[in-house]
Amino acid sequence: MELLVIPVFVLDQQRRVLIWNRACERLTGVAASEVIGTSDHWRCFYNRPRATLADLVLQGRTEEIRQLYDSARPRPQQREGLCAENWCDMPRVGRRCYLAADASPIYDKEGRIVAVVETMRDMTNEKKAQIALEQLATRDGLTGLANRRCFDDTLRAEWQRALRQQQPLSLLMVDVDNFKQYNDTHGHLGGDQCLQKVAAALASEMRANDLVARYGGEEFAVILPNQALKGAAIVAERVRSRIERLQLPNVGSAQPYVTVSIGAATALAAAGEEPQQLVATADAALYRAKRLGRNRISLPLQEPARGTAGRELDATAQ
Ligand code: GH3
Ligand code: MG
Ligand code: MG
Repeated sequence: MELLVIPVFVLDQQRRVLIWNRACERLTGVAASEVIGTSDHWRCFYNRPRATLADLVLQGRTEEIRQLYDSARPRPQQREGLCAENWCDMPRVGRRCYLAADASPIYDKEGRIVAVVETMRDMTNEKKAQIALEQLATRDGLTGLANRRCFDDTLRAEWQRALRQQQPLSLLMVDVDNFKQYNDTHGHLGGDQCLQKVAAALASEMRANDLVARYGGEEFAVILPNQALKGAAIVAERVRSRIERLQLPNVGSAQPYVTVSIGAATALAAAGEEPQQLVATADAALYRAKRLGRNRISLPLQEPARGTAGRELDATAQ
């Protein structure tokens, strides 16, 4: 095992390190002489005490694998060991690594575990590439918010969830006012920076379960799961006033500062209905907010009947 190119360590029955091969020394930055005979092997991977995969196999704690690892694939037979992946702190080398570990028991003639062998593969580059790809597929490049595709997927998923759990689902459509004027004054790069600031302010007002997306151009959409219209109106007004308070000068436009108009809609999902209706209702409310002078929020008339996204109302919350 000493010369294998794959990092390997072996624990004995007492959880003491029996073998720590050269590749393991290179991976962890810890010499075999420092860990052999101790149970300090966890220190080579983590900042805080916790079990390694080999410990779980040795101590029969296989159920804990799901809590302790990002990705776990128990073998079909429990006796065959465990396979799992996760981020490790790697304190000695000072670089977080994503390791794929494989821990296998060695049995004696009586079927008792006498040792556990753990092998590791450094998958950090592959994991980072996977995360970057996921980011590209779901994030908007300019603002870092969810992109349109992610919005469409999330809206469909939240609609189904609202249907199953019989909970309301709200949507805000947010459009920057007179943004063409902003671009004309500050140039497109200045306009881009403005969109980034608006996006950051918008995102900072949301709860963990809400989704803020760049719907397109200078338009944003916010999905508010399990939120009735009243709550959605409060969120919308908070967002409107937050953007106004950024005091981003918009010279030459009707308002001195950059402002947004917001249309809200709420639905009680019903089978056979489409979430697109929710978008259409919020959009109609948004355009009414524009007609009525901008820098305001607009709501549908009443709490919607089941399966509808509410009827539009000629009234604003401001
Ligand atoms: P309204 O109050 O009616 O919404 O007026 P508006 O000027 O905001 O709306 P309009 O649709 O006329 O113009 C939107 C502008 O947003 C035009 C477009 O060039 C600009 N825009 C869209 N996407 C981007 C972007 O990514 N960066 C920049 N800088 N500008 C963008
Ligand atoms: Mg627009
Ligand atoms: Mg606009």
